[in-house]
Amino acid sequence: MAINAPEGTRDLLPDEALFWSRFKQMAAEVFGCYGYLPIETPLIEQTELFVRGIGEATDVVSKEMFTALSGENLRRWVEEGQPPKAKSRLSLRPEGTAGTVRAVVQHDLVPQGAAPAKLMYAGPMFRAERPQKGRQRQFNQVGVECLGAEEPTIDAEAIIMLMRFYEKVGIPTRSMRLLLNSMGCERCRPAYRDLVRAYMDEHADDLCETCLTRAELNPLRAFDCKSPGCATVMADAPKITDYLCDECREHYTAVKALLDGAGIGYEEDQALVRGLDYYTRTVFEVQVTDGMGSQNAIGGGGRYDKLAEEVGGRPTPGLGFALGFERCVLALEAAGVEMPRAQRCDLFVACVDDAVRPRAFALVQQCRDAGYACEMDHQHRSLKSQFKLADKLGAARVAVLGPDELARGQVTLRDMGTHAEALVGLDEVTAELGQALL
Ligand code: AMP
Repeated sequence: MAINAPEGTRDLLPDEALFWSRFKQMAAEVFGCYGYLPIETPLIEQTELFVRGIGEATDVVSKEMFTALSGENLRRWVEEGQPPKAKSRLSLRPEGTAGTVRAVVQHDLVPQGAAPAKLMYAGPMFRAERPQKGRQRQFNQVGVECLGAEEPTIDAEAIIMLMRFYEKVGIPTRSMRLLLNSMGCERCRPAYRDLVRAYMDEHADDLCETCLTRAELNPLRAFDCKSPGCATVMADAPKITDYLCDECREHYTAVKALLDGAGIGYEEDQALVRGLDYYTRTVFEVQVTDGMGSQNAIGGGGRYDKLAEEVGGRPTPGLGFALGFERCVLALEAAGVEMPRAQRCDLFVACVDDAVRPRAFALVQQCRDAGYACEMDHQHRSLKSQFKLADKLGAARVAVLGPDELARGQVTLRDMGTHAEALVGLDEVTAELGQALL
């Protein structure tokens, strides 16, 4: 029986894999202008990092993580009922923030008084969710984390940078919506959380089972519930922005003023709470307005001023976001934007007969060594089929090499865009290609 990729995972076939490389490169270019540097953290971390870092009550911890165990530890657990020690209890990372913050703390990347550490990552994340369109169990994210500064300029520049990145990728601004909210801090949020819990208790009859459980552990998550009854109840729940402390209100006002100044449009959404407990103050999410169904969030993030302490570091404010590569591809499709052609072919060398193949092979090699993407046929196709192949590869030019041309040390160089043809010396082909690219 043929074995397929596991449920909820996808192969990135060459076009998409090339786009993923380009996507990461674009992210490095855009985020680099804002001072972000790359970091690579392991795909597996101690489970404890996510359980502590994200909070016991969140969905990610309760059901959405893949646990990784060595074969021996699994055997001991199953056969001898001996659970592995904390150090050997590993999870595939469900998100990039906790690992990055762990690395910042472990390597003391923000010593006291230092400038903030601005870090970016790109790679696969794993969540044991029920797969559906736009929701996978392994998916790719690009994300950034800035640790060591709590000023609203950090929040605003990260949001501006995120929107600039989407523009660069080609997602039309008109098809996106930026949602913004403030979640308050450890001073003002607990009282607000109690208010929401009390409000939910009053409306318990109209809430779903999940939200009733949430009311105990993490009532704010009820704002995310898709069930119509809960949505109606939660629409009239107390609004966090009415209960922010003075510092949080000032911070939020400053972020909005900076976004206004930069001409970034946003909608304030008091129901935007994001799933994770660690967020404080600014939270944001970018959604695509059409064609993506319920999985329409293409990125989001927020401030997490308490997370570094939760993973054992000294108090270090932080802010980050992550965006989903596969969702961005869906957003481009939904907006009718063609993915940029990934494969480049500057020259295709076509052979009129087999006798010229050795010289054609040498010409192809010569062009590649000069840095041009160059291809030829390896299957003895007819000249007509070779042109078809050149077309399929999107070749910008085709060099036709026949016995007559070869005798004169020349090739016929055809521009596939204009169909103009010219005889060019075999030694001048690379110079001609350079000229054409200019
Ligand atoms: P989160 O880490 O949940 O804030 O997600 C950040 C972004 O990653 C989302 O806005 C999506 O674009 C993407 N994403 C999250 N979960 C998934 C998933 N299961 N499958 C595909 N993309 C996802």
